[in-house]
Amino acid sequence: MSRRVAVVGGGLAGITAALRCADAGMDVTLLEARNHLGGLTHSFRRGALDVDNGQHVFLRCCTSYLDLLRRLDVMDKVFLQRKLAIPVRSPKLSEPAWLRRNALPAPLHLADSVLMYRPLGLGDRMRFAGAALALRGVDPAAPSSDGQSFAAWLSAHGQSKQAIEKLWDLVGIATLNAPATGASLGLAATVFQIGLLTGADAADIGWSKVPLRELHGDPAKARLTEAGAQVLLGTKVSGLGRANGRWRVATGESEIVADSVVLAVPPPVAEALLPPEGVDLPQGWAAGLGSSPIVNVHVVFDRVTMKEPFFAAVDSPVQWVFDRTAQSGLDSGQYLAVSMSAADNLIDVPVREIRELMLPALREVLPAAGDAAVRDFFVTRERHATFRPAPGCAALRPHAATAAEGIVLAGAWTATGWPATMEGAVRSGEAAFHVLTGSEGESA
Ligand SMILES: Cc1cc2nc3c(=O)[nH]c(=O)nc-3n(C[C@H](O)[C@H](O)[C@H](O)COP(=O)(O)OP(=O)(O)OC[C@H]3O[C@@H](n4cnc5c(N)ncnc54)[C@H](O)[C@@H]3O)c2cc1C
Repeated sequence: MSRRVAVVGGGLAGITAALRCADAGMDVTLLEARNHLGGLTHSFRRGALDVDNGQHVFLRCCTSYLDLLRRLDVMDKVFLQRKLAIPVRSPKLSEPAWLRRNALPAPLHLADSVLMYRPLGLGDRMRFAGAALALRGVDPAAPSSDGQSFAAWLSAHGQSKQAIEKLWDLVGIATLNAPATGASLGLAATVFQIGLLTGADAADIGWSKVPLRELHGDPAKARLTEAGAQVLLGTKVSGLGRANGRWRVATGESEIVADSVVLAVPPPVAEALLPPEGVDLPQGWAAGLGSSPIVNVHVVFDRVTMKEPFFAAVDSPVQWVFDRTAQSGLDSGQYLAVSMSAADNLIDVPVREIRELMLPALREVLPAAGDAAVRDFFVTRERHATFRPAPGCAALRPHAATAAEGIVLAGAWTATGWPATMEGAVRSGEAAFHVLTGSEGESA
């Protein structure tokens, strides 16, 4: 008889773990509380619009995530830039400044873009290189890197407040879901080393050409079913119990029995379901790790207001803006999503006030929207979008292996070394599979 594995949680971590186990011939049941797979990457209908819960992008260096897309057979549904190019708009600039890679190897691939980066003064542009080179030498896994704030490290390496806000945070807020002041140096070093300082093509940006549900959740259900896994949607796991050397996974009215359980749920759920001796962390570790919100502001204009697929903004409350027209199915006008990371200041603000703040700010950085009429305006909020990547967070991220025999953890919040990203989630699912099979240690 093949080994029975219950995977709890159908986000990218659980999908990856379940597929890997099913492909290896195990008898897999995936239990997901909601009525769809995909977890934090999902879509819904609003009238005629397909809306994502929040804009998601990936980078060329997200190799595990790209492997998952191949396994899901959806590579034709994503776009990946041939060469990194980020238009940066500011109310102080009539035309965007561009961060583009050239043909040189990293880190020289960005040297001319940074030297010509108009939002910053010449001194700040010149001083960027010194800090970038020093960041290459930081050990992301060292406890001293985890314990230090990225902003403090940048200041100590000659970076002004402007340089941090207009250049480092431009990338950092979107990838870490925290400004440099709230981010651990270790996680920031991971992001910048892998994305910008080692491989020249690593940071080419990719995104879905279809709603996220069509990229992740629906194909995952199809591929899992084809691979012989059972997918139970709308099935919330309420407890785990041990009997006769196996695990009983309770789902309210019924239970399933499994040899191994992958807990691919958010940290508070994992802490509640895990036996107390499961991880060597103080009680309340999930609350200690905390979470950080992302808010997306969605605006449908009556006309085309931007030609680029996306832009980033500085000197403005606006962060990153994406053209969502094609993915949403809109047939006239233009649908923009303004993605606001580390959105503690917006998460509880009423839509009317967000509109009063964000619409004029958007029009300021996007003059073509100046007299465009707004056909629709709404807000999506994810209060627990990621774990909080604050200094000290690494000490609260458990590894895939637990002390409870047969129970393995997965999730973007586990000790992958990555911030909470789609890549981190997929890596955690792979790590869980390797722990279960003893195949590769737990090299997340
Ligand atoms: C708005 C937003 C924008 C983002 N942008 C990006 C981006 O641009 N690039 C990027 O790489 N990452 C981005 N992320 C982060 C990325 O989406 C996450 O890191 C990743 O999807 C997390 O996957 P996961 O499987 O670890 O967790 P989750 O997606 O949280 O999956 C956990 C699953 O467990 C289920 N569950 C919970 N409790 C139970 C229970 N008791 N029983 C059964 N099931 C249960 C949940 O319903 C959920 O489906 C963004 C996140 C958000 C919210």
